[in-house]
Amino acid sequence: MSSIFLPPPTQQIHSHITQNAGVELSVLRLDLMHPWVNGNKWFKLKYNLLEAKKMNFNTLLTFGGAYSNHIFATAAAGKLFGFHTIGVIRGEERLPQNPTLSFAVQQSMQLVYCDRTSYKQRNTPELHAQLREHYGEIFIIPEGGSNLNGVRGCTEILKETGDFDVICIACGTGTTFAGILLSLAQKQRAIAFPILKNGEFLQTEIATLWQSYLAAGLLAPNNSPPSWELICNYHFGGYAKVNNELLKFTQQFQQTHGIPLDYVYTAKMFYGVMDLLKQGFFSKGDRILLIHTGGLQGNLGMQQRLII
Ligand SMILES: *Cc1c(COP(=O)(O)O)cnc(C)c1O
Repeated sequence: MSSIFLPPPTQQIHSHITQNAGVELSVLRLDLMHPWVNGNKWFKLKYNLLEAKKMNFNTLLTFGGAYSNHIFATAAAGKLFGFHTIGVIRGEERLPQNPTLSFAVQQSMQLVYCDRTSYKQRNTPELHAQLREHYGEIFIIPEGGSNLNGVRGCTEILKETGDFDVICIACGTGTTFAGILLSLAQKQRAIAFPILKNGEFLQTEIATLWQSYLAAGLLAPNNSPPSWELICNYHFGGYAKVNNELLKFTQQFQQTHGIPLDYVYTAKMFYGVMDLLKQGFFSKGDRILLIHTGGLQGNLGMQQRLII
């Protein structure tokens, strides 16, 4: 299964900001592993797909918003690995289809629209029973691939990366970050940048995910309590909100370093790290690794909405 994917390259960033801060800054390019099935969404899908295969399911059903990186990745991964896929999309159908959903349909995903009230039931056994009654034998993957299989896949993100002191990552549900924490070496620390407003709630979410992973008897590569923190003030107003400063930063970053960032997640984390570097937040000599979690497909839809 893994042979289709390129090992993610690590790329170093040189700028006067890193020079002044006396740090070494690198980017782990999970966005380059595969044209469509990439980023953290692949890691979150991996063990879900393996479990579905093992249990002889032919159909995957999952949930997401109309611009969801997870829907995009599930559609492509399903096609690649021989599953029929059903995407339950939050909200009403809008035509013409946005680039995310038209891609999903090209990958033979069957789309089902779900009003926002019913969508809130997406994690309940009642709705799952209804879906099974309607669609038959389906393997249900939660929104974003955010379950313990998802965490398990994310414990493999740092595999074969070099020697780093600090790992930085953008954070939505915290599933990916929990996987990172479970694989952190003793001397490493990790920083999560929530892209939601009021991201402080993730403090307990992440701790709970970490504990349930260990409680499930899934062996962590390293289960000593990790050293980590949340930095909550780079959300730019909340989920998928952007301003001119963030847009300008993203464009300049790509021009200067040749690395495209997505506006919803990675741009906010990269902005935050560069800003913290200017403030002297990191220690001299720190070797910092930023995880590029992918999500670039979402920029098309964002560009259409913003007309940029
Ligand atoms: C989904 C996503 C995240 C957030 O992942 P969580 O596991 O929900 O924290 C980060 N970056 C990108 C590009 C994503 O698509």
